[in-house]
Amino acid sequence: MHSFPNIRPLGGQVPVSDLTVSVYRIPTDTPESDSTFKWTHTTLVLAEIEGGGKHGIGYTYGSPAVATFIDKMLKPLLGGADVMNIPETAGLLTAAVRNEGNCGVAAMALSAVDSALWDLKAKVLGLSLSDLLGKVRPEMQLYGSGGFTSYTIDRLQEQLGKWAQAGFRGVKMKVGRRPQEDERRVRAARDAVGGHAALFVDANGAYHAREALEKAEQFAQYGVSWFEEPVPAADLKGLQFIRTRVPPSMRIAAGEYGYNLPYFDAMLQAGAVDVLQADATRCGGITGFLKAGYLCEARQLPFSSHCAPALHLPAALALPSFCVAEYFYDHVRIEKMFFDGVPEPANGMLRPDPGRPGLGLELKRADAGKYAL
Ligand SMILES: [Mg+2]
Repeated sequence: MHSFPNIRPLGGQVPVSDLTVSVYRIPTDTPESDSTFKWTHTTLVLAEIEGGGKHGIGYTYGSPAVATFIDKMLKPLLGGADVMNIPETAGLLTAAVRNEGNCGVAAMALSAVDSALWDLKAKVLGLSLSDLLGKVRPEMQLYGSGGFTSYTIDRLQEQLGKWAQAGFRGVKMKVGRRPQEDERRVRAARDAVGGHAALFVDANGAYHAREALEKAEQFAQYGVSWFEEPVPAADLKGLQFIRTRVPPSMRIAAGEYGYNLPYFDAMLQAGAVDVLQADATRCGGITGFLKAGYLCEARQLPFSSHCAPALHLPAALALPSFCVAEYFYDHVRIEKMFFDGVPEPANGMLRPDPGRPGLGLELKRADAGKYAL
């Protein structure tokens, strides 16, 4: 048998020795809204896992109930779990929450823990997570995302215009809170970004199907090339109806509320989207996000990440189906406030630092502590 003396053997037992969970409530810089929701703060739930003398972090954006769920339901199961065997651990945790349902609070809790395990495993091996997962590309393309319906036209133009000037190839704004104002706001956004960036809109499920079709024609006049959740994402027939009738230059996108693989599979089977979105802080962490990306690869459909750009970077680089990541205003702000090592975009692209192990993020404990609940 040949030996490979320079390679650390995988599969060695590296037991989880501790898990702690904390919750932070971070005010937005101004009150924000989309078509169907208003918010003045964001809640971040952070899972920290110890093992092999290292420290892994994972997080999700959800209610404090997620933290309680991690502490009461998942922590007792994790003691001694092998950091090197994440599929085994993820399977055990998923089976354990059968009666709570593999969605919502339970799925967000699983997601934070899964991401923390991947961060920890990479740190134990002394690798960046992007090197552990492997890459099909060196950097991740971004689109700037904000354009809230609470913004004035001036603020909307300033934010989107700044991203376009910085080299982002796409920007996204919210529509649908006051449908009669959509056209004026979309026109203003196009004026702000000119021909430099693709213009995306997100209706967060505001319209019914026929209304969405009318809106698609209206938005197409301003070169909108991505129409996200024109109807509620649960309405797969409605999405399919719209997708097959909009101009060919317009993509229908949805999937951010996907918590598990059967959800994404149903969306793809229904022909509901041109671009599938998934959020690793909801859909089972790095593990669930990779699986959703492979579903897209099988169908030759582009795959995109929702929110939390720093967390998605390593997995996005590993997926052939991946096209573009959402550089979401609120989460970019929070990631920079909370973590050292957050990569800075260059010309609309994000590149990992191979010298930083794991996700490359270190919690700024004193800064984060100001927002602890
Ligand atoms: Mg959205």
